[in-house]
Amino acid sequence: MRGTFLFLGTGASTGIPRIGCSCPVCTSTSPFNKRLRPSGLVHVKGKSLLLDVGPDFYTQAIKYKINRLDGLLLTHTHYDHIAGIDELRIFYVLQNKPFPCLLSKESYEDLKKRYDYFFEPPTEAGSLSAQLEFQILEKDVGGTEFLGIQVHYFSYSQGGMKVTGFRIGDFGYVSDIRNYDESIFQELKGVRTLVLSALMQEPTKLHFSFEEAVVFSRRAGAQKTWLTHLAHFTDHEQGNALLPPEVRLAYDGLILEFNYAAT
Ligand SMILES: [Zn+2]
Ligand SMILES: [Zn+2]
Repeated sequence: MRGTFLFLGTGASTGIPRIGCSCPVCTSTSPFNKRLRPSGLVHVKGKSLLLDVGPDFYTQAIKYKINRLDGLLLTHTHYDHIAGIDELRIFYVLQNKPFPCLLSKESYEDLKKRYDYFFEPPTEAGSLSAQLEFQILEKDVGGTEFLGIQVHYFSYSQGGMKVTGFRIGDFGYVSDIRNYDESIFQELKGVRTLVLSALMQEPTKLHFSFEEAVVFSRRAGAQKTWLTHLAHFTDHEQGNALLPPEVRLAYDGLILEFNYAAT
């Protein structure tokens, strides 16, 4: 069975263009240099799963005509990955049931602090906030079934925050990775198509450099790796010229195919 992954956004936390920036990439007219905040849409087994819900979610939902959504997979609770979470309210209105979210225990606890009103009982007038239903991943590594789809998950960290990576069939999504245990390559075994974050050419405290991403991709054994979470320092074409053929910069609107087989 085949599944697809649509890149809804491939930019770093500030997006491209960046507010107030007149650099060559931010002022470029190439559509490949327009990057909304990082997010994606998985289609598999008749279900549509959103992967992170950043501050551009409304724009992405309109642009890509996301009229139905079945659930959310959340990597972590930094602003650029959750700031659109209130917009999920509309799927409660459209689908008339709480919206399923798969996330780590740490992300769940952090959401409670950042969005305390999600956890309050509805008032007599009803609730104006998103109605969410949480499926919590209690372990650091494992497999679970989410909406009838087999999802394998694993953990790593970025600036002290735990981040969850996901594998569905032979597709892997590893965003906002800086520190990881060698055992992650065991979890990624069999991944042919990998989405991996890398901010820019040079290494930074919170993100891989392009070179670090290439090393990671090769160790993971991915056939093709697509870099996401890109900052405005890299022009799309110039960035690709720095990379080996099996590692490419992703772009907003790109669709990947993968193989899904429940195991
Ligand atoms: Zn710029
Ligand atoms: Zn991020």
